Amino acid sequence: MAGVAAQAETVVLDGCAIATVDAAGTEYASGHVVIRDGRIAAVGAGQTPNVDGARRVDARGCLATPGFVNTHHHLYQWLTRGYAADGTLFEWLTALYPVWAHLDAELEYVAASAGLAALALSGCTTAMDHHYVFPTSGGDLLAAEIEAARRIGLRFCATRGSMNLGRSAGGLPPDEVVEDADRILAECESAVAAYHDPSFDSLLQVALAPCSPFTVTGELMRDCAELARGLGVRLHTHLAETRDEEEYCLAHFGARPVDYVESLGWLGDDVWLAHCVHVNESDIAKYAATGTGVAHCPTSNARLGSGIAPIPELLAAGAPVGLGVDGVASNEHGGLAEELHQALLMARARLGPQALSARQALWMATTGGARCLGRSEAIGSLEVGKLGDVALWRLDGLGHTDIADPVTALVFGPPAPLELLLVGGRVVVSGNELRTADVTQIAAANRTGARELARRAGVA
Ligand SMILES: [Zn+2]
Repeated sequence: MAGVAAQAETVVLDGCAIATVDAAGTEYASGHVVIRDGRIAAVGAGQTPNVDGARRVDARGCLATPGFVNTHHHLYQWLTRGYAADGTLFEWLTALYPVWAHLDAELEYVAASAGLAALALSGCTTAMDHHYVFPTSGGDLLAAEIEAARRIGLRFCATRGSMNLGRSAGGLPPDEVVEDADRILAECESAVAAYHDPSFDSLLQVALAPCSPFTVTGELMRDCAELARGLGVRLHTHLAETRDEEEYCLAHFGARPVDYVESLGWLGDDVWLAHCVHVNESDIAKYAATGTGVAHCPTSNARLGSGIAPIPELLAAGAPVGLGVDGVASNEHGGLAEELHQALLMARARLGPQALSARQALWMATTGGARCLGRSEAIGSLEVGKLGDVALWRLDGLGHTDIADPVTALVFGPPAPLELLLVGGRVVVSGNELRTADVTQIAAANRTGARELARRAGVA
């Protein structure tokens, strides 16, 4: 992937509205963005001065934003959408574990291609994946999804997830989908050695991500934290998603989820946690004090009836909050642009129309997400010197043209057509179509893959 940025041409976007999402919230009603050698070379008001050899894009009628950052996903779930449609998290997981037990690298590649294509088409330039199902004879699933990220052309944060607390030991998953702790730690270490690129322009990073308090032992959580800190990589897990989880933690560990993971060394500015729906004032203060990030997944939380995370309170406290689609078995839509809209509506349903603004939703999808992934130096805002990851949204069509404020149009309106998506200046989407791979072929392979997985699991 290192060669991708080097191949990118100079691109000039001219005449668009721009929301830079920089620290001052700088916006331009009509301006330009220049991307050269994979990085932003200029951004400002008015027309661009002539740039020799550049590809000039007439961006009138469009809004340029930083490319979106997805902070929580399970790409393999593109093969299992629509299962357990009316189940709670624990019911849904219990129905799905036996299906996921039949995953292999070939199916992972198919699912990840579909998931990453959908993310690209919804404005995402940096994707992460929390992969924690590694069947013994499944092959190299991490390598398969990394290959899919190269194919689609997105910046990628792969996590080596894990489960080692099977049903016979008091956990939720069946024993056939859990792994031995020693094997997990060895695999984590070799994934970092093989794939993690810490450079500024990096297209691929690795984090460690044991699955959740009810699928992983406390000892493994502690060991993963120690290993990650020794290797200089980040930590991710699910936390405080449902009331069932809170009851599980109180019954098994005598502590609520946030107190439990704090005791294992799992709060800090190198940690981001998915969901955090059931957190109280004291938990929120701990996130803010330690810089622990939150991956907010409003659609998934609503689909599973888990509740609504206290995002306005987390933002007011100063905690880094990003957005995530979560796996599509609990969010069949799978697009990231939709999560800005959902986050806005959910916060307002709880606390009224001033609970969350369109600009706060955009901040979470960009700068907030970059902070969660530890990459705010390089991505998450349109500023000179940062990476050329840009989404250009068309707002002059039926869905948006009469809404005067472009950020309001993007977040309040229907999903906007994506005129252009650049990753390090390289075109991934143009004219609302994926340019790096054939979406029809990806969809056909996904349909076949979903049927194959269902057949293997005996549910077809
Ligand atoms: Zn998840």
